[in-house]
Amino acid sequence: MRGDDARKLTLVLRKRDGDLVHLYDSSGSAFEAQLAITDARVRARLVRTIAAPPVESLEIVLAQGLPKGQKMDFVVEKATELGVARIVPLVTERTQGEGAREGKTERWRRLARAAAQQCGRSGVPEIEAPLAWSEMCARFSEFERVLVPWELAKVEPLAGRLPGLLTGVRRVAVAIGPEGGFSHAEIEQATAAGAVTISLGRRILRTETAGLVVCGILRYAAGEL
Ligand code: SAM
Repeated sequence: MRGDDARKLTLVLRKRDGDLVHLYDSSGSAFEAQLAITDARVRARLVRTIAAPPVESLEIVLAQGLPKGQKMDFVVEKATELGVARIVPLVTERTQGEGAREGKTERWRRLARAAAQQCGRSGVPEIEAPLAWSEMCARFSEFERVLVPWELAKVEPLAGRLPGLLTGVRRVAVAIGPEGGFSHAEIEQATAAGAVTISLGRRILRTETAGLVVCGILRYAAGEL
């Protein structure tokens, strides 16, 4: 390999000629390989197949209201580290970010690949092209549970609610509003499509914080943290 991946191995991770590394392919298979480094070129000689990291028992899809600026980069990277299976950038009534441009989606896919390599997870999360809220609501039936954190929801500790909400659930979607949150109409649309609103407490979390908090809690509830 050459270019970014080679530079990351030699300059960032400071790997040396002869070092052993673990490699993961997009199917989640894992290998131990020995590096042969010459100038700007890195080759990996496969030594053996190793046990792939366990696939998460709870499949999480994060539908993230497109935030302003570069915040989506942060969400993609952290959600990848938390084992999210798929990230759906959402275009809602109050999204202001210009993230809906296609070029951003390719950037996020590169960031997800790099974050997956860094954290040693199995596979790379899918990053979808931006989706309108109504289209996301129409897909809620793909999940056994859809959680929509809403700052105006009744404040009820998740410790009491989640066990019941996650019983028998293998695929869960979490939908987070943008900086301006969801409109009442969007919340009604979501609950009519089967989503459950949840409170994340009395403090208002930033849009880039909220989804990661919920993913972490779900990982904990699934016994994976
Ligand atoms: N509309 C809110 C306001 O103007 O104060 C802010 C929305 S918040 C920045 C962005 C998203 O994070 C919300 O749409 C919601 O999904 C989630 N969120 C943040 N704090 C929350 C809380 N305490 N309870 C439930 N959801 C929350």
